[in-house]
Amino acid sequence: MKNNSDFVKLSDVKSAGLRYIEIPVFSDFSDIVAGFTTRFGGVSEGDYATLNLNFNRPDPRENVLENFRRLSVDLGIPLENMVVSHQTHTKNVMHVSAAHAGMGITRDRSYTNIDGLLTSEKNLLLVTHYADCVPLYFYDPAKSVIALVHSGWRGTLMDIGGETVRELKRIYGSNAGDLIVAFGPHIRNCCFEVDRDVADAFKDKFIFAQEYMSHRSDGKWLIDLEGLISENLERQGVNSDNIYGCSICTKCHNDIFFSHRGSNGRTGTAAAFMMIKG
Ligand SMILES: [Zn+2]
Repeated sequence: MKNNSDFVKLSDVKSAGLRYIEIPVFSDFSDIVAGFTTRFGGVSEGDYATLNLNFNRPDPRENVLENFRRLSVDLGIPLENMVVSHQTHTKNVMHVSAAHAGMGITRDRSYTNIDGLLTSEKNLLLVTHYADCVPLYFYDPAKSVIALVHSGWRGTLMDIGGETVRELKRIYGSNAGDLIVAFGPHIRNCCFEVDRDVADAFKDKFIFAQEYMSHRSDGKWLIDLEGLISENLERQGVNSDNIYGCSICTKCHNDIFFSHRGSNGRTGTAAAFMMIKG
């Protein structure tokens, strides 16, 4: 895994009130749009201030819609060209096409329990939700296919990353060695503490898990989800030189990003987004 160190400075994000940051590795590809939203530049209030992008929170629908409209204007991408996941901590990923455009924002979804979106369609913005969980951005330049995946600890434990690689192979004929994978901001090993039962579940699932866990004196465990997911993807054929980390911890930077653990569970939701330009 490489350290993706070209992220914009967080002090600049805060002073400018930027609505989103770009995922740097994809700036090398002129046909890819990839970013992650901040708390700034929206109209939501209280715990959801200001750019909450989740309709399933006690935040008026009109506010969330206005937040999406503002992101839409920034990106120059109509709401009707966006498609939003329906996340329930599964390992389910789904191919979406123009037939799904607008779903989750301008019209109802035709699917449920989908934590990752895959597409080869141009000008269709994939959108997934976060408040500490790990965003994974996949791009296959050989087949011109992208995937955007919500890998919380439950999804990680179910191997949603590996499932994405398998589905990219099955649906589009991708080779794992061609894939470029980037992490977005998430809760890092400085802050992601779990109890013994969760630590044990990771050890049971991944034979290499112990390398990415540390046991604290208070009995809790700290898990490095990024390291663990990265090693798992490498074992499934993704080239380590093509995996780009993200050193931004959402809980440490709770003033800039929504963080479930940094807000005692009362928080808005950020969006990761990704698109192939037409
Ligand atoms: Zn942290």
